[in-house]
Amino acid sequence: MSAPSTEPPTDRRRVVVVGAGLGGLAAAVAIHRTGLADVQVLEAASKLGELGAGIQVSPNCSRLLIRWGVDKYLSNNVVLPRYGRVVRWQDGEVLSQAPMMPQIQEKYGFPHWHVHRADLHEALRKIVDELKIPIKVNAKVVSADVDGASVSLHTGEKIDCDFIVGADGLRSTMREVVLQGEEASPPFVTGDYAYRFTVPTDDMVDDPVLADCVQVPMAIGWWGPRMHVVGYKLRNETIFNVVTVFPDDGTMDNTYKMEGEIDHLRELYDGWCPQVKALIERARPGTVTKWKLMDLQPLQSWHRGKLVLIGDACHPMLPYMAQGASQAVEDAAALAQCLRHLPLSDVGSVFQQLRHSRVTQIQKYARTQRGKNHMLDGPEQEARDATMRDASAATRSAYAWSWAAEDGEPPKPWNEGLFGYDAEEEALKRISKLGYPARIE
Ligand SMILES: Cc1cc2nc3c(=O)[nH]c(=O)nc-3n(C[C@H](O)[C@H](O)[C@H](O)COP(=O)(O)OP(=O)(O)OC[C@H]3O[C@@H](n4cnc5c(N)ncnc54)[C@H](O)[C@@H]3O)c2cc1C
Repeated sequence: MSAPSTEPPTDRRRVVVVGAGLGGLAAAVAIHRTGLADVQVLEAASKLGELGAGIQVSPNCSRLLIRWGVDKYLSNNVVLPRYGRVVRWQDGEVLSQAPMMPQIQEKYGFPHWHVHRADLHEALRKIVDELKIPIKVNAKVVSADVDGASVSLHTGEKIDCDFIVGADGLRSTMREVVLQGEEASPPFVTGDYAYRFTVPTDDMVDDPVLADCVQVPMAIGWWGPRMHVVGYKLRNETIFNVVTVFPDDGTMDNTYKMEGEIDHLRELYDGWCPQVKALIERARPGTVTKWKLMDLQPLQSWHRGKLVLIGDACHPMLPYMAQGASQAVEDAAALAQCLRHLPLSDVGSVFQQLRHSRVTQIQKYARTQRGKNHMLDGPEQEARDATMRDASAATRSAYAWSWAAEDGEPPKPWNEGLFGYDAEEEALKRISKLGYPARIE
């Protein structure tokens, strides 16, 4: 990294974003908002959209989306959960129930949302359209020149630019460019698969077993040996999103997504409490998908030359903390500030410095949370449950970690470190601490 220059950049930059997932669209919006860049998004798929159903958006992410105006296109589609509840797998005992909304909004100034991924993607796309940022579909990037800055498509077309953002997800081609063969280890299996499906809430309200799940909006986690189930309402409370995580059964060796089998779901969760079994009975054939959950060895570097990776391309997150998309959006916000204030040659290294320890900490606890959700019944699980049942214990929350604060700040409770963070503000603070001149508006 060069010594900070005395002048912030003033030249307009052409930025290419590879990938139009949640991270790529967020990056396009955040970078456009700097007023200093002409952004173009390239997407390999022939149609824009998002697979899967629900996503939890915590206030560290909603504060950015609201600042960027995305909420106006979400309207009734977001659900505000009143509680986060953890339930024992076998008998349905409620082990803990922590308040979420409006307490989260009151404490952190921004809401926690449950939203359909397709709705969030669509809202981001509408902002992208409003800002007149072009998105090219059927544009699979196959290589990149990180010195001169250009990308080449599968069609042979070459697109010149000044900077490249690799937001091309877990199976990233841009990651291969950053690594250039060194330490390139492909994504590996975590040992878990997931089934995802939704149930209309109209089918649940009159069911004596399921009505309790939908009376008020909440996130419910049923925790059991080696498996768990999560459920919450989406789309103006009209559908109930269900994700079930269970051990790899070797049926997905050659794929990461396939149609799910309801009989297999029944078999897996036989012996679980009546609510879980009733949810499975409500799953409709043809609507259940089966996913392989993958992870990646930590990368030494997230950047090379004029290319920076964001989101799942460089730091996929296991879903136990529900932070993958939120962290991709935080990346987008921080990267935009780097592009706004730094010479291009320093953007990659400062971006990585800003983001690395935060996402590594979340990844670490997401992996630890897996063990906590999936404990085998026995003394350790009994101790875990006793703590969660004890309403007076500070550690009662399902996520009772301590946030190791950076930059000489003292450690904080987990939620404060995670939810109370403003990625744009933190980036600005750190950039100015490193001695770069702040741009005068
Ligand atoms: C079961 C499950 C539950 C989850 N729940 C949550 C949650 O509640 N909250 C949360 O925050 N996160 C959650 N996540 C994680 C979250 O979904 C991901 O971390 C996030 O969507 C990653 O976004 P991304 O934009 O980095 O990558 P992706 O969404 O993978 O987008 C990459 C895009 O790049 C395109 N692309 C790929 N290669 C190329 C190429 N060569 N050229 C051009 N385009 C290309 C792809 O087609 C795609 O559109 C969950 C994940 C799982 C599996």
